Amino acid sequence: MKVAVIGGGINGVMTAWAFARSGEAVDLYEKGQLMSATSRSSSKMLHGGLRYLEHGHLRLVREALQERSWWIRQAPQLTRPLELLIPIYRNGERAKWLVGAGIRLYDLLATGSGFPRGRWYSADAVAERFPGLKRDQLLGAYAYWDARMDDYQLGLWAAERARESGTRIHEWTPVLKVDPATGEVSTDGSEACYDRVVNVAGPWAERLLARSGVTSAYRLELIRGSHIVVPGKREQGCVLQVPGEKRILFVLPHGENTLLGTTEVSQADPDHCAPSNEEIDYLIANYNRCFSRGMSRQDIISSFAGIRPIVASKSDFSSASRESVIERQGRLINVFGGKWTTSRALAAAIVMKSRH
Ligand SMILES: Cc1cc2nc3c(=O)[nH]c(=O)nc-3n(C[C@H](O)[C@H](O)[C@H](O)COP(=O)(O)OP(=O)(O)OC[C@H]3O[C@@H](n4cnc5c(N)ncnc54)[C@H](O)[C@@H]3O)c2cc1C
Repeated sequence: MKVAVIGGGINGVMTAWAFARSGEAVDLYEKGQLMSATSRSSSKMLHGGLRYLEHGHLRLVREALQERSWWIRQAPQLTRPLELLIPIYRNGERAKWLVGAGIRLYDLLATGSGFPRGRWYSADAVAERFPGLKRDQLLGAYAYWDARMDDYQLGLWAAERARESGTRIHEWTPVLKVDPATGEVSTDGSEACYDRVVNVAGPWAERLLARSGVTSAYRLELIRGSHIVVPGKREQGCVLQVPGEKRILFVLPHGENTLLGTTEVSQADPDHCAPSNEEIDYLIANYNRCFSRGMSRQDIISSFAGIRPIVASKSDFSSASRESVIERQGRLINVFGGKWTTSRALAAAIVMKSRH
């Protein structure tokens, strides 16, 4: 079978690798360079998604925890387990018992992963482990474990595996149009026909369909998430709960520095994605609320943003947006959404879908 994969982010790379491993002839088309968009602008966490438990998504979390372990086994040089603290304040956003119960369930779902179990730290122990955290109203912190990755290098590592398995990678080759009926893929100056065409173009997936005159049953809402890098080496991560919102912010080790993110802002055009002044102010304000040595804009070393395509059904607006959707239209397979951590599992599901 001849397969075209459109998009060289982690989902495209893992899809190409999965098809190539099962003996298919794969062409991967990327309009720029591999791993140049969302997949290198993530929070760089290999995680099960502790907060998905609040919504009862146990199966999703279990799968992501298994995938977390897979990445660590495959590429220990580009990943490392990380302890994260969730400070608990008197009258905080989430009750102590709720966070504790969530972490116990998370550990249960991760059984067999070899990760340490979560635990409680007193306020004094927190001050030692995470210096600078304000003590006012602090009861202590729950700790749990996830993993850090170098998203860019890990993605290139996976691309190399895809190439070794026979994938032909075409960078700087935007796909202009696809035809679900014939499997034709048009690039600037050439056309080729495939048995399966996988549209895994991330935030641009809908745009490719519009250019091709293809209607999907799903719509994408593009949500920008921004990060800032500030000075300060850290050994642990910290999860800050934003007052009045159900949102959380990560304060994470980032080489010799600290990574702080993320925001959630609607984004119209996927081509122009950068943190706004308001988002930077929001991140700084929330950091300063929790840490005694505050920071200002002058402290920012760098910043970056990525776009999360949130997928929803066109026919059922009330339905909660889903993590990911695979839609088959003739020879075309559209992939919307997904998480970095679960890209291998998504790729396996895409291969399955291509067979029916
Ligand atoms: C702020 C933020 C933080 C996140 N943090 C995490 C995290 O910590 N852990 C986690 O597991 N997940 C995280 N995610 C989710 C994760 O980053 C994404 O799910 C994942 O990177 C999506 O990969 P992708 O391949 O679908 O998209 P992308 O990486 O965007 O790749 C799509 C590719 O398609 C290419 N393309 C587009 N149109 C065409 C065309 N016509 N022809 C050829 N190529 C085309 C683009 O150039 C791009 O390279 C985060 C997401 C965001 C936004």
